[in-house]
Amino acid sequence: MSKTGLTVVYCPVRGIPEVKQINRNDDIRGLIGGWMEAVRIEAEGEIYILLCDEEGKLKNSEPNFFMENDVIVGDIVILSSKGEEFASLTESDIEKVTRWIKRQRKAKFCTKCKEIFYNHPAISRRDGSGICPDCGVAEALEDFINR
Ligand SMILES: [Zn+2]
Repeated sequence: MSKTGLTVVYCPVRGIPEVKQINRNDDIRGLIGGWMEAVRIEAEGEIYILLCDEEGKLKNSEPNFFMENDVIVGDIVILSSKGEEFASLTESDIEKVTRWIKRQRKAKFCTKCKEIFYNHPAISRRDGSGICPDCGVAEALEDFINR
């Protein structure tokens, strides 16, 4: 890691993403509240590193957002990488990462087909839960056919 510090995006569970300047790996552990688990993410064609608490799920940390049929829990840090090293986010990276977080936070999990979706949810006729529009249509059809 460079001596001059790293520019990262920090995204707490209860809050909006903020740009932070960190100096040491310890700072990241402080922000995410545990040992680092690194997840590669793609935002607008660029690859970034999402760091979260390795034991977040064991600790029952609050969900932050859904991602590819998984849930990211706890406070997170996103930064760039150069080879094996962490690297700073540039201004355009920060914009991409912030937009990516905003989109992920709109992601919802359909309890019926177990897929992530981004549209407005449909209300299940079975249990009133929020389900994806496709499953909503499928339920409506089932009801129509079985009427
Ligand atoms: Zn569904």
